Amino acid sequence: MSILVVGSVAFDSIQTPFGKADDILGGSASYFSTSASFFTDVNLVAVIGDDFPQEHIDFLESRNVNLAGLQKTEGKTFRWKGRYEYDLNEAHTLETHLNVFESFKPVLPESYRDAEYVFLANIDPELQLEVLKQVENPKLVACDTMNFWIDGKKQELIKTLAKVDILVINEAEVRQLADEPNLIKAAAIVRGFGPKTLVVKRGEYGVLMFGEGSVFSVPAYPLEEVFDPTGAGDTFAGGFIGYLAATRNLDEQNLRKATVFGSVMASFTVEKFSLDRLKEIDYTEISDRYRKIKLLTDFADID
Ligand code: AMP
Repeated sequence: MSILVVGSVAFDSIQTPFGKADDILGGSASYFSTSASFFTDVNLVAVIGDDFPQEHIDFLESRNVNLAGLQKTEGKTFRWKGRYEYDLNEAHTLETHLNVFESFKPVLPESYRDAEYVFLANIDPELQLEVLKQVENPKLVACDTMNFWIDGKKQELIKTLAKVDILVINEAEVRQLADEPNLIKAAAIVRGFGPKTLVVKRGEYGVLMFGEGSVFSVPAYPLEEVFDPTGAGDTFAGGFIGYLAATRNLDEQNLRKATVFGSVMASFTVEKFSLDRLKEIDYTEISDRYRKIKLLTDFADID
């Protein structure tokens, strides 16, 4: 089973209280597909400029990510510059240069069109919708976005959300999108835009999943050292959708397991810059952290 993902492939420049790096491999689709590749095959749709090094392409291919839908055009690759203070839950965007994304028209290779599992990673909601129109009969459509698009393209985003089954966004974005400070009320409003399931990413506090009449909570894996939170959200989504696609099961119990796999994958990404930590791990380490999260939340019923 393979997943179709559309999103950004980027150069990131990051400053955290613990270090600084310029022009490292980032982007929502890079994090998502690397994470999902531990569970299933991924077909990627994105655009890069002529400044993008072969080394990064070789890496994605080494993870079995299909790059038939990665367009290379004249110009510069998308660039994002962000800073984190001691509260690592909040990214401060310093610069966003859309570059080749300004004129990007996503065209799905024929072999991608029968995709059953689709992830619309964080990019312009109009491009997300463009991609969705080219998919014949998806079984599951999940989506991410960020404040940049909620500020700039809210109406377009709401149009995209009408076609989405699962929305995966962070807590501040849920409040912003719903225009409602209370998270529980805000979740109901956002679910009213279309997605039956809303997964709320809460950084070091974990994830909440809202469904019809249900709420599920999973803590973040407790880490003593969080180095750079960039990509945690996309890595979560990669583990989450990757597991769902690999198991082909969308019932509540399996959705819960998927949130734990997502949390485990994100816990690796934040330990180093870029995809550096994901390059080192294997499935044994993933399953070990899965079991530790299970123990973390295990408690007895009232006698
Ligand atoms: P997150 O998982 O939320 O930390 O996402 C981080 C990634 O999102 C970075 O690697 C950035 O390259 C990418 N990104 C930041 N802003 C945008 C944007 N406006 N559109 C698409 N991707 C973005």
